Amino acid sequence: MKIGIDLGTANVLVFVQGSGITVREPSVVAINEKDQIVAVGQEAKDMLGRTPGSISAIRPLRDGVIADYVVTEAMLRYFIKKGTAGRISLGRPDVLVSVPAGSTSVEKRYVLDAARQAGAGKAYLIEEPMAAAIGAELPISGPSGNMIVNIGGGTAEIAVLSLSDIVVSKSARVGGNRMDEAIALYIRRKYNLMIGDRTAEQVKFEIGSALPLEDELTMMVKGRDMIAGLPREIKITSTEVTEGLEVPLRNLLDAIRSVLEQTPPELSADIIDKGIVLSGGGALLRNMDRLVTAVTGVACHVATDPLSCVAKGTGIALEHFDVFAKSITSEA
Ligand code: ADP
Ligand code: MG
Repeated sequence: MKIGIDLGTANVLVFVQGSGITVREPSVVAINEKDQIVAVGQEAKDMLGRTPGSISAIRPLRDGVIADYVVTEAMLRYFIKKGTAGRISLGRPDVLVSVPAGSTSVEKRYVLDAARQAGAGKAYLIEEPMAAAIGAELPISGPSGNMIVNIGGGTAEIAVLSLSDIVVSKSARVGGNRMDEAIALYIRRKYNLMIGDRTAEQVKFEIGSALPLEDELTMMVKGRDMIAGLPREIKITSTEVTEGLEVPLRNLLDAIRSVLEQTPPELSADIIDKGIVLSGGGALLRNMDRLVTAVTGVACHVATDPLSCVAKGTGIALEHFDVFAKSITSEA
């Protein structure tokens, strides 16, 4: 059996050959005061911010870097088991895990070791923007340039690919988390209202937009008044959220621009013809594609089912192992 794992900062997806995506859960682990793991995935996320004193919920990959080996291994074990539950298999599954393009060899070794410890037979790695591009069905094995911008929770991975290789890439620590923090900061400064991370993310989902909306949306937001210390509710508009998102969006666009600037001219010409493709959950922010086009002057569109591109890419790479051999490694 072969399985692909999108080990994301916000979500882990498991792709099982022959079955497709079988698991899709937040990359969260809950531990107790003795550092014992009490829950993984959705169950652990439900504990975030609402945990009793003795339990803390952690995101082991928060900024795209593996902060805790033991927790990562436990998480991989849980997802491999859950992803393959009820399926008959001879021996241990071969596991292909996606890692951020900027990963150091120490981090890569961490993931490979963790995957083996967690029950993998053979363990392989693929760089996340490569997997995203494959999953978004970009023709990366041809001799022309393709550009992918995969916007996750902790990082955005930007890459230009050609001949099944990454030609230029950048992993920027700006993704959905930064957007949530920026929204919370904006509301705190403007209204003296403290809101939680999950509320900020909810605001982004419901009324967030990278460009001002013609038909403005509004939403009631609850939090704690910083002066009175009491719960309070305010109404905010999508235009305000766009304003609040200015800094992380500018950082993201700067990173995209710097990759474009480092791209060899022949490949730049291809990208002008084909456009930039967006994937990852952050691609779902309203008007993200239009903002990228407005700032870079290059056409841009969102991949089909952007949240699944990396997992699908690992699945396709497993199925056509020889075609993508160059992009897959089994050592750090
Ligand atoms: P990762 O690969 O880092 O695990 P994902 O690709 O799963 O990340 O994307 C998760 C991020 O996408 C989160 O920050 C989440 O808030 C954001 N996201 C998901 N859906 C939307 C949406 N509709 N609008 C804006 N952001 C979204
Ligand atoms: Mg991802």
